[in-house]
Amino acid sequence: MNNSGLLADKVALITGASSGIGAAAARVFAREGAKVVLVARRKELLEELTGELRAGGAEAEFAVADVRVAEECVAAVETAVERFGRLDAAFNNAGYGIGRDPLHLMDDDVYDYIVDTNLRGVFNCLRPEITTMLTNENGGAIVNTSSVGGLVATPVSAPYVAAKHAVIGLTRAAASEYGGERIRVNAIAPGVTHSELVADWFAKNPGMEAMLHQLTPQPRTAQPEEIAQAAAWLCSDRASYVTGVAMPVDGGFTIQ
Ligand code: NDP
Repeated sequence: MNNSGLLADKVALITGASSGIGAAAARVFAREGAKVVLVARRKELLEELTGELRAGGAEAEFAVADVRVAEECVAAVETAVERFGRLDAAFNNAGYGIGRDPLHLMDDDVYDYIVDTNLRGVFNCLRPEITTMLTNENGGAIVNTSSVGGLVATPVSAPYVAAKHAVIGLTRAAASEYGGERIRVNAIAPGVTHSELVADWFAKNPGMEAMLHQLTPQPRTAQPEEIAQAAAWLCSDRASYVTGVAMPVDGGFTIQ
């Protein structure tokens, strides 16, 4: 346990913790002293990562939940409260669906799946998280994962781009509503980052990675930990007067 870390003593819930940015965040948050609750659908991966964190001396728990299902998000927050007594921070990071089909060929069920995961999923988590944080004397801090696709358009990703723009709207609305209750709500907008999600996208769209590097002042794909560090800072008390922002973590992609 790191008692002098950035997140010392905080109880933090992280969705999408079974891989990519969320798994990196689980490691960063735990290293910075947080007690973490890992949330995703793939139980074996959550079990494995929870075991790794505990073996490293952290306090960790997991909750299997599909963020599209409101009751499962409520149960995940309850797991945090039952196991660690409260909830101070949340990283609503689960997401899916970059670069599928051109808009005019997109099926309803693909659109619904992508919007439900990326937008409804954040809402489903925000509701019980805020309800719980309202009982804290010192409020709390929430970070939602948007994307550079929440700030500008990215190719063949219409429902993803729409949902990630809406995540920023939801973030601002929540920040505005709960600032008086000392609950900060921010978003991060990652650029292209090594993960299962982009490996699939790049496999289906040859040349895409090289094209994105050309458009990025730091011409490379980010490591998941680089995104996780930004989320950890926004969840920490060092960001005590930061709320309602959508922070690009994108190697400069969106300044072009
Ligand atoms: P990964 O595919 O590696 O991780 C996605 C995570 O979300 C997994 O842990 C997955 O777990 C979880 N997840 C997906 N759907 C659901 C669901 N319905 N319920 C619960 N959990 C779910 O990709 P990334 O790490 O890259 O993605 C993390 C976030 O970052 C996403 O919101 C993504 O949109 C965003 N992002 C990523 C970028 C990139 O370049 N990688 C760029 C910009 C934004 P499981 O399958 O076990 O449920």
